[in-house]
Amino acid sequence: MRLDKLLSHLNCGSRKEVQSFIRAGRVAVNGTAERDPAAKVDPDADRVSLDGREQTYCAQRYYMLNKPAGVITASRDERHGTVLELFPESLRRGLFAVGRLDKDTEGLLLVTDDGALSHALMSPSRHVSKVYEAELDGTLVPDAAERFGAGLTLRDGTVCRPALLELLPDGRVRVTLHEGKYHQVKRMIAACGATVTFLKRVQLGGVRLDESLAPGEFRELTEEELGALR
Ligand code: URA
Repeated sequence: MRLDKLLSHLNCGSRKEVQSFIRAGRVAVNGTAERDPAAKVDPDADRVSLDGREQTYCAQRYYMLNKPAGVITASRDERHGTVLELFPESLRRGLFAVGRLDKDTEGLLLVTDDGALSHALMSPSRHVSKVYEAELDGTLVPDAAERFGAGLTLRDGTVCRPALLELLPDGRVRVTLHEGKYHQVKRMIAACGATVTFLKRVQLGGVRLDESLAPGEFRELTEEELGALR
């Protein structure tokens, strides 16, 4: 394989960037500087280093972001800030968000470069649980929890899978879903007579939002958290 191709596969930078690293003498193969981006290397046998640090096939990257309100779940947008812009440019390459939260929704968003895991988590057949906490305006109908549990029908006729609605002591509600329809929590609450004024996702599958992350902050998932998603 070409040296520049290998380094960009290892997430060291774009093909153009790694070519400039190589030409600048920052890359060594088996301890000897190599300035030719087209030099042939064997990814299984040769030791390739950048700035003195050996590069191995990078593990895929998994982050939990505490999404703030006001940014959209997209890689790029002309008019609004995006969740990926909360990551430094050096990390952004190849990353995307797993699923979507509304612009005004806060909380747990996974950001990764692992398409297979993302696909599995979002697959309707896996029914991965998503837990939200919400503040409401208005009063829910008395049988709201039963209606959630039975599988609520939204105002436009959409039928939801059975979900859990818990009334928290401070007046907020916790909603656990096993699917992800458009504006689902807001629409389910609206179908029961109230309006969501604040919404935050606190859990996805076995991973809980780390409450020490301020809105806009992220950290890598631990091995344990990653194991809970697989
Ligand atoms: N349900 C909503 O209404 N909005 C979200 O962002 C997520 C779930």
